[in-house]
Amino acid sequence: MYKINSDKAETFISNEEIIATIEFAQKNKNNKAFIKDILNKANEKKGLNHREAAILLLCEEKEIIEKIFTLAKEIKQEFYGNRIVLFAPLYLSNYCINGCTYCPYHLINKHIPRKKMTQEEIRNEVIALQDMGHKRLAIESGEDPVNNPIEYILESIETIYSVKHKNGAIRRVNVNIAATTVENYKKLHNAKIGTYILFQETYNKKTYEELHPFGPKHNYQYHTEALDRAMQGGIDDVGMGVLFGLDNYLYEFIGLLMHKEHLESVYNIGPHTISLPRIRKADDIEVSNFKNSIDDDTFKKITALIRISVPYTGLIISTRENEKMREKLLELGVSQISGGSKTSVGGYYKQEKEDSSQFEVNDNRTLDEVVNWLMKLNYLPSFCTACYGNNRTGEKFMSLCKEKQIHNFCHPNAIMTLKEYLTDYASNESKLTGEKLIQSEISKIKNETIKQSVLTNISKISNDERNFKF
Ligand code: SF4
Ligand code: SF4
Repeated sequence: MYKINSDKAETFISNEEIIATIEFAQKNKNNKAFIKDILNKANEKKGLNHREAAILLLCEEKEIIEKIFTLAKEIKQEFYGNRIVLFAPLYLSNYCINGCTYCPYHLINKHIPRKKMTQEEIRNEVIALQDMGHKRLAIESGEDPVNNPIEYILESIETIYSVKHKNGAIRRVNVNIAATTVENYKKLHNAKIGTYILFQETYNKKTYEELHPFGPKHNYQYHTEALDRAMQGGIDDVGMGVLFGLDNYLYEFIGLLMHKEHLESVYNIGPHTISLPRIRKADDIEVSNFKNSIDDDTFKKITALIRISVPYTGLIISTRENEKMREKLLELGVSQISGGSKTSVGGYYKQEKEDSSQFEVNDNRTLDEVVNWLMKLNYLPSFCTACYGNNRTGEKFMSLCKEKQIHNFCHPNAIMTLKEYLTDYASNESKLTGEKLIQSEISKIKNETIKQSVLTNISKISNDERNFKF
């Protein structure tokens, strides 16, 4: 039975409720009056529930799809303006004892090179990332209590924060590691991580158990309840996502929204971010083996509808998608992207052949090329990490988002961090485009005190001072 506030995975992600929602959506996908009501509600820009969103996702009428896309663009503009936050993944270790059939790091893969970085190697990677201009990382590691225990992860986080190369600094370390205990989440919280990210992969329990045939990750309940434990451990910024292509996309979409509704209902805090990965080719992984892969048009619709359903949650797209698709998804609601990414262990410092990569990257541009591309598309690239430093997390952060107040922080911070990037790392071409963009963005600041402060800080950045934030 479905109970949103239950502490049991199979009750807050109730299979019966998902099946009932699919049937309900099938029945109503051509019900014009109903769809009109849902679109009216969506227009209030306060989100949709899983049943409402599922109907829109199934709706095939061209005119309605156009309305969905237009509304997603409007919400994106209203909540996020033209800012796009940039980050990079950092793979610490690909030792893993799980059997995930869609990931080349699974235990049975004996020919992929296994690597675990030493603290010295991590330092070198961080310097390479800082030299590109990154300020925000997402660390990734396989699950292996012997090779990658929590102590190793904690030590690595400390190392990452400690590296200060030239004017560089990593100011926010997000963590994407396996489901763990409340005790370990407390340790991660004390290590001052940003967001704890855990992808559900698939919400369908039967499929989940088949795709994770052994290892600790086989336990659906333990995995699905992990974000609850993270919250109980004091981490109030959590990130979620599914790997689209593993099961039916409608099932996953509904499960994802139900999970979000559960967190919001129990902790009063929805997810800080939702990531939107699609299954990709990798070392011993063939996409054609996954019959649920989704096409570009369906993926666009999913992105737009998540933006509409959860207006105040950051949407992330990685380099799994190519430049063209990323451009389209940015319009439809994506607010964070990775740039210059390497998906192998030790890929930044040595620039080695990606023989240990987790998935095939479809956007191989450098960070500077991505920044320049964003600016030419009239986006404002942002390296901001201010909320974390100013203790604006969890409920505090969410209420600022819902009241559309966060913009007053994000916009000036984006301008100042872009200025840092242009001063320290950009190519001449990016500098030229970026300086013009900064002038035009400053002119948009309505509050005179903030505007003057940004102008003062911009000139201080030119004089080698760093890390200004609102
Ligand atoms: Fe290991 Fe994660 Fe890959 Fe599964 S998805 S094999 S847990 S690294
Ligand atoms: Fe993110 Fe906060 Fe910076 Fe806005 S001000 S970009 S929400 S860290």
